Amino acid sequence: MLLMAKCSLVSWTLALSTSSVLAHPLFNGRLVSRADELLEEYDYVIVGGGASGLTVANRLSEQPSTTVLVIEAGQFDQNEEFVTIPGLAGGAVSTKYDWNTTYAASEYLGGRNISISQGKIVGGSTKLNRMVFDRGSKSDYDGWETLGNERWDWESLLPYFKKNEIFSPPVDEIREEYNITWDDDAHGYDGYMHSTYSPYIWPTTKNLVEATSSLNIPIPKDQANGNAIGGYFTPHNMDPIDYRRSSADEAYYDTAATRENFHLIADHQATRILTCANSTLKATGFATSSNATIQSVKAKREVVVAAGSLHTPQLLQVSGIGDPALLSSIDIPTVVDLPAVGQSLHDHVYVMVANSVNTTITLASELTSNATFAAEARAQYDTEKRGPLTSPSGDFLLFLPLSIYTNTSASIHAAALASNASLSLPSDAPTEVAAGYAASYHSLNSKLLANDSAFLEVIWADGVLFLGLQHPYSRGSVKAPSSSIFDAPIADAGFLRNPLDTVLLREAVRFARRLVAQPSIAELNPFEVVPGANVTSDADIDQYIKNSASTLWHPAGSCKIGKRDEGGVVDGELKVYGIEGLRVVDASVFPILPASHIMTTVYAVAERAADIIKGVGGAIEMS
Ligand SMILES: Cc1cc2nc3c(=O)[nH]c(=O)nc-3n(C[C@H](O)[C@H](O)[C@H](O)COP(=O)(O)OP(=O)(O)OC[C@H]3O[C@@H](n4cnc5c(N)ncnc54)[C@H](O)[C@@H]3O)c2cc1C
Repeated sequence: MLLMAKCSLVSWTLALSTSSVLAHPLFNGRLVSRADELLEEYDYVIVGGGASGLTVANRLSEQPSTTVLVIEAGQFDQNEEFVTIPGLAGGAVSTKYDWNTTYAASEYLGGRNISISQGKIVGGSTKLNRMVFDRGSKSDYDGWETLGNERWDWESLLPYFKKNEIFSPPVDEIREEYNITWDDDAHGYDGYMHSTYSPYIWPTTKNLVEATSSLNIPIPKDQANGNAIGGYFTPHNMDPIDYRRSSADEAYYDTAATRENFHLIADHQATRILTCANSTLKATGFATSSNATIQSVKAKREVVVAAGSLHTPQLLQVSGIGDPALLSSIDIPTVVDLPAVGQSLHDHVYVMVANSVNTTITLASELTSNATFAAEARAQYDTEKRGPLTSPSGDFLLFLPLSIYTNTSASIHAAALASNASLSLPSDAPTEVAAGYAASYHSLNSKLLANDSAFLEVIWADGVLFLGLQHPYSRGSVKAPSSSIFDAPIADAGFLRNPLDTVLLREAVRFARRLVAQPSIAELNPFEVVPGANVTSDADIDQYIKNSASTLWHPAGSCKIGKRDEGGVVDGELKVYGIEGLRVVDASVFPILPASHIMTTVYAVAERAADIIKGVGGAIEMS
């Protein structure tokens, strides 16, 4: 049943639903117990209480007269150890706090479905993630501007990277033992998100650092100052006193939770952004679904969508904003003809080279294989906040330009120039998306020869190397499968669609073997288990990549910033084209992924979004 209310020229209305009659919405500032006790309208209604949504909500509600509601589909966590203890990071994957979605089966992956975890919890994916807290290189963000996005560059974002952060240097013992350096000027100290280095580093990390040096790979002073090239020690998002995870929940929700003007309703899913088909497309009305209690809420000023790269485009589509052909196929009337919604999805694809090692050095596997070791580690964490459980692992990472990890960069570049951009795109990519991608393709080609742009990340775990492609060529899409938000979106990151991505990963596999052959790693007596030392020819490595490639959980780009006729969904102020009062602020707006883990970039974009919405600091003029 669809109930229509009279159009309002000043309000946005958004429908939300809980599938459980027992759902217990949580309110703050003012404690109420039922969804029907929501205010009738808020200045801002924010969909999604993850990294970006909570950041924007916190900043907008700093002004006591501004009312803000966050609608979050997931629940609050119960302080489970797997969301608080760094050494157990990732443990919330596949639990009820995960949307448990999969990418669509792909011919480029041998028909496999890859699982793509995304947080369904207050805090979003920052409760599930592996806590690597790094930034991309200056060139990554400057590349956003080069694509036509004025003032979306390193210089404009740096203040917001800092605004997010409360940086603490490493403890003395670990600084001395590993010679960790950092750049004071690159960090923030007055933000909400703790970042610091693990006070325990798994010992074979030393072997990796030595191998990095023996290959003459640079070790920069700090990854945070725009020069994230080479091998570096990375901070993690954790509190430097009790070494617990610092997620968007602790950082941006807890610090605002007592504000009377800030409400958050958990365990409720926004089902639709309701619009009014008048000439200015001001919103109104409310909707229902067949199996849930539906309530609507109005936004006096704006609806801000922060539901993540997979759910944001789906929400726009079921609200009538998207490709008319798709919308008509799922019985949704078109409100805004915007075919780029859901397009340009890309993600960091990785393959693994796994070696067993034979050494007396302590390995992380002891946490699961040796009960005594695990008990001692736990006691040390509980009593001293030290030891193995303070490290989420991945303390030293490599981010390498193509020319550092292969001597075939010139021929790969030549192949890219001779190839065709359309190989990266789904066959049904809309014209404007293809036009916009042509510029991205050009930008990716130039990165192939650049020494200030990393193509490969190497994550080390005691002989196992995760090799992540940082600037994939391939693109995919997100499509709503039906008019119901409760049906999981059909998402395809397009992994390996463009054969260049396989070539780039093939060279990564070869580099991993060279790294492992360095004396400091050879002394661990590595034995290559996967793909196996006999897998050496191009064809065999490519087959291995096809059969095993997976995601580093960094989907982005599906509602990217850009010109409308170049596949942009939002303009430079993050406003959705063709409709008023609607913005997107999450990872889906990235024009192109940076070479890094992406949480800090999400926070920086969201911090900046809040300023843009408020009309201060980060406000930018659109040409
Ligand atoms: C397993 C894993 C490991 C990762 N490791 C790292 C890492 O080590 N370092 C790093 O930098 N990044 C990492 N990431 C990525 C990083 O956490 C995300 O990029 C970031 O959190 C994305 O922020 P977001 O605001 O776009 O989305 P999210 O943080 O995912 O927030 C989106 C929120 O919207 C909610 N939502 C969705 N649809 C609706 C709806 N219809 N109604 C209401 N609410 C809705 C979701 O439940 C979710 O809470 C990892 C991610 C995962 C999943």
